[in-house]
Amino acid sequence: MNIWNREFECMSRPALAALQLERLKGAVRYVYERVPYYRESFDKIGFQPRHLQSLSDLAHLPFITKDDLRDFYPFGLFAAPQREIVRLHASSGTTGRPVVVGYTRRDMEIWTELTARMVTLAGVTDGDTAQIAFNYGLFTGGFGLHYGLERVGATVIPASGGNTARQLMLMRDFGTTTLIATPGYALYLGEEAEKEGIDPSRWKLRLGLFGSEPWTEEMRAEIERRLKITATDNYGLTEVMGPGVSGECPCRAGMHIAEDHFLVETIDSATGRTLPPGEEGELVFTSLTKEAFPVIRFRTKDISRLDTEPCACGRTTARMRKISGRTDDMLIIRGVNVFPSQIESVLIDSDGIAPYYRIDVYRRGALDDLEISVELASSDLLEPYFQLEELSAAIQRKIFATLALNAKIRLVQPGSLERTTGKSQRVFDHRKP
Ligand code: ADP
Ligand code: ZN
Repeated sequence: MNIWNREFECMSRPALAALQLERLKGAVRYVYERVPYYRESFDKIGFQPRHLQSLSDLAHLPFITKDDLRDFYPFGLFAAPQREIVRLHASSGTTGRPVVVGYTRRDMEIWTELTARMVTLAGVTDGDTAQIAFNYGLFTGGFGLHYGLERVGATVIPASGGNTARQLMLMRDFGTTTLIATPGYALYLGEEAEKEGIDPSRWKLRLGLFGSEPWTEEMRAEIERRLKITATDNYGLTEVMGPGVSGECPCRAGMHIAEDHFLVETIDSATGRTLPPGEEGELVFTSLTKEAFPVIRFRTKDISRLDTEPCACGRTTARMRKISGRTDDMLIIRGVNVFPSQIESVLIDSDGIAPYYRIDVYRRGALDDLEISVELASSDLLEPYFQLEELSAAIQRKIFATLALNAKIRLVQPGSLERTTGKSQRVFDHRKP
């Protein structure tokens, strides 16, 4: 097996904890000295860096949220002077001001190493040709993967996002073996290939590294079936670094976290209480080595659970389960908690429909209405009315069995729901002002 950095990825848990404590002490002192926000928030609770004596002492420190970060737009939380910053990136900021992050030369070096580890985990080697269909720009996805793939010696095709016909052409003509994209875009590429009469099994494509948005196991199976590849999951976020925070190994037992650089906790998102490993909760990250944009206890809103048992691949780093949702994604419909991922699982497992859907929630009078639009797999199905009735009733029953909610099912024409080359938006809650 190809292990990128055996020393850190296969360290014993006690040695790792000792390393984390030493680095955490440094990180806490570093932000206290360099970032007024952290100094003030620590002072407020009477905390001095020397008070941090064990990893569990971290739980005394306040959280920082995405809203807090936005308040310091653009550079208010930077811990290094402009001269030392060699790169800026930003989160999309679709819902307000973006969060701007910076990297020093050393941050870039570590980011490159960690994405190199992550792509190695997924199975990429120097024998691969990797096509990056993530956007190159302020979004961390494109550049992040680029540097890591180059580091392992893969042949990188910086295709960037969009232009699907060209993506397919490059894949065929350049002999792409590895596709880097959002899972939604991978699915769309598969669909377009099929339309063009291309049989992906005749390509060299064998591996997909997908991330940057939530996707279910059912979606994974669908992508693997359509593109005839192994589809792997990886996770990252701008505020913490970008891609490379965690990624899946061939054992498919969760995503290995780069714990020598990030300390991860799971918390109960309602109370803020730290949960023991293995319990599902919101992920909170603390950077241990970042220089330009360190974060202490950043609340991600992403829901997962941690597994610290040794993995069959030989690595000892904790693994996080596939993200099951975000705390702000959860819909409360007629008092029932609903995660879009639950709906996705039901839909993709149903026959007769394509893996494209849209969820709309309305308030009509005092009641909430859940409406799910689903594409028919083929227009042949459009004809017999009773078949359509039967299909939507079957989906409705399955949704009811999962959520105990009656949903209105709209079957729509193949190809009529929006396809995206970046992150997908599938949920529209019209109840919000
Ligand atoms: P932006 O803020 O521009 O949307 P980010 O890349 O910072 O871009 O978005 C990070 C978020 O994307 C994460 O907090 C998480 O919600 C989601 N995400 C990233 N990778 C995955 C993944 N593999 N599975 C599920 N969600 C993911
Ligand atoms: Zn593993």
